[in-house]
Amino acid sequence: MEVKSAYIHIPFCVRICTYCDFNKYFIHNQPVDEYLDCLIKEMCDSEVRVLETVFVGGGTPTALSYKQLKRLLIAITDIFEIKGEFSFEANPDELTLEKVQLLKDFGVNRLSMGVQTFKPELLEILGRTHHTTDIYQAVTNARAVGIPSISLDLMYHLPQQTLEDFKDSLEKALAMDIDHISSYGLILEPKTQFYNMYKKGKLKIPNEDIGEEMYEYLIERMNKSDLHQYEISNFGKIGHESEHNKVYWKNEGYYGFGAGASGYVNGERYSNVNPVNHYIKKIKNNERPILQSTSPTKTEQMEEEMFLGLRMNKGVSKSRFFEKFDQTVEQVYEQALKDLIQKELIVEQDDYISMTDRGKVVGNLVFEAFLLNV
Ligand code: SF4
Repeated sequence: MEVKSAYIHIPFCVRICTYCDFNKYFIHNQPVDEYLDCLIKEMCDSEVRVLETVFVGGGTPTALSYKQLKRLLIAITDIFEIKGEFSFEANPDELTLEKVQLLKDFGVNRLSMGVQTFKPELLEILGRTHHTTDIYQAVTNARAVGIPSISLDLMYHLPQQTLEDFKDSLEKALAMDIDHISSYGLILEPKTQFYNMYKKGKLKIPNEDIGEEMYEYLIERMNKSDLHQYEISNFGKIGHESEHNKVYWKNEGYYGFGAGASGYVNGERYSNVNPVNHYIKKIKNNERPILQSTSPTKTEQMEEEMFLGLRMNKGVSKSRFFEKFDQTVEQVYEQALKDLIQKELIVEQDDYISMTDRGKVVGNLVFEAFLLNV
């Protein structure tokens, strides 16, 4: 299948958040210009030229200076013809009018802002650089230049966060008539500051029940708004769903460019080397900057099709499953389907198998049932 999407990674941030385990580096003293040289070379060397969706993420792409950002945008739009969605991740305090105008001038049509919470004390705990007022200013700036789609990321199940805090953040986002919200529960990842604090008994995370309660509230509240749920953690107005992320959930191919980026092209899942210096070295040596690559077996592909597809409200298309694997989903998963339908965790409707609201709350249980090699 032709690959029409690309993810581009900018692994730099001006401050490292306490919970973050993404591939990112404190920008100070990093060889940012050299990194951009190499990233541009990697994109040039690829065989793809026409793309339907491009997502520039990080790290934080808006941590780049105006000049660096301009250079990156010139390169991306020179190398690729972008026919559809052109998304950028942004931190609210870095989205100055000048930078957002630049993004708009180069065709960026979607912004994904790392807001996380509107509560100042929680922003502090998370180690974010922005203040609540920056969120409003960033949205105002993006709208002033005419960015047509704005998404906010909000987190729940945070240390010291109450259900009321989470409700308040949601209301503040909705009151801005925002186009899209992504909302994720905190996952305590090893090698983060949070994890170390937790191990030393210095961080209190609300218990699992509160996390579930927040998630259930999220679904309930969004059902009453004009942002409909289309994926476990994603809600958008009609016409504002993330087309790029849907490529992942539909288990379709995409290129990954930059240090630590991963891709899925011609049946090969690959990830690039993480450390910026290793990445630069490989590109300068005219090597592919690959850390590892695997070609998933048919069994693994069927599992992925289920895990990823079930994340979407629409679910997994049975006819597409058959087209891809030459077996019906019922032939492969007869028992799992029966059990999960009986437990009311999934439903079958026309061509689709999808999760119920309860299924979404206990998503991991559902996904486990579709593992074939256990
Ligand atoms: S801004 Fe994003 S990528 Fe950077 S440290 Fe914070 S959470 Fe991680």
